[in-house]
Amino acid sequence: MAYNVTLIPGDGIGPEITEATIRVLEATGVAFNWDLAYAGGGAKERFGALLPEYTLESIRKNKVALKGPVTTPIGSGFRSVNVALRKSLDLYTCLRPCKTYPGAPTLYKDVDIVVVRENTEDLYSGIEFEEGTPGAVRLIELLLETKGEAVRTDSGFSIKLISETCSRRIVRFAFNYARAHQRKKVTAVHKANIMKFSDGLFLAIAREVAKEYPDIEFEDRLVDNMTMQLVKGPQQFDVIVAPNLYGDIISDLCAGLVGGLGLAPGANLGDDIAVFEPTHGSAPKYAGKNKVNPMAVMLSGVMMLHHLDETEAADRLEEAIAEVIAEGKSVTYDMKTNMSSAQVVGTSQVADAVIEKLGKL
Ligand code: NAD
Repeated sequence: MAYNVTLIPGDGIGPEITEATIRVLEATGVAFNWDLAYAGGGAKERFGALLPEYTLESIRKNKVALKGPVTTPIGSGFRSVNVALRKSLDLYTCLRPCKTYPGAPTLYKDVDIVVVRENTEDLYSGIEFEEGTPGAVRLIELLLETKGEAVRTDSGFSIKLISETCSRRIVRFAFNYARAHQRKKVTAVHKANIMKFSDGLFLAIAREVAKEYPDIEFEDRLVDNMTMQLVKGPQQFDVIVAPNLYGDIISDLCAGLVGGLGLAPGANLGDDIAVFEPTHGSAPKYAGKNKVNPMAVMLSGVMMLHHLDETEAADRLEEAIAEVIAEGKSVTYDMKTNMSSAQVVGTSQVADAVIEKLGKL
């Protein structure tokens, strides 16, 4: 049986790293029908829309997608394609495992953290008021009227939205994940001492949900303290659950702990739809250069195989990638700490090396 999977190559480095990933996924022996769909700049060029309806329909139909990163124009009127995709499909969980593979360029050993990031609300709610617009003016009036706050008239606003519903489902996801994967602890990250009605609500719900899981340890951390503790002693953390923005930042921090963005996979999950993509972006300056690390997408592919219950293929592919990392002979530039003396290969050669390892496993 072949799995129907929507394939979104993405922008910048996206097409070359997804192509490398398709090659290694197919080399596991699992069969796929790739349903090619576009999002981002590639979609705009072909269909005149950054997120065409066909792409959403394809994902809804296939329920599984592999996606390369897409470029978001900074500061323009268009809000992120990724945020739109996650909200349209209600992919409310962003799951980002970060673990150290021997040979990876990192100061740390034995890091094995899973970041569970809320994916639909918080400061990414998309509710914003541009400076000087009628909406912003009305909001300023309302704040004066209801809070007695004289907000500067040249202010812009991004609304931080945290709901009980979304907090409950993301924290439940984190605990269910911990239980299903024999994890021992969940750490909730927040800034509830300052944002009492948004982060405070998130924390209150997290504490409530934690009581339903007496077998899993629960703790919470203020986000500033959390970043320091992650750098000082990442091995103390297991599953981390966080609202959208902190989850985004902490995922990149954790990627740095295990060797960089080239090793940080991810999945956007809803109740019955899963979109697998790396944590990193489209790195436009390296587009088409056969230079960047495809392993974050390959490891997202490992997550996809697990999702499809292809456990044996998933384990084999992860093992093959781990062997290539450990050997250090067929890795990209970002995998070497000493860049000047580094012997490095390109994106597609990494795929060749992983396929060769797969053939021996
Ligand atoms: P980026 O992740 O593209 O790059 C950050 C740094 O990491 C750069 O130095 C880059 O060279 C390096 N890097 C990234 N991926 C790498 C890889 N596979 N191998 C080796 N090095 C790698 O972040 P950015 O430059 O801030 O963003 C570029 C664009 O990507 C922006 O438009 C942003 O909005 C978008 N973005 C998209 C997604 C997504 O589609 N999920 C996620 C993050 C950023």
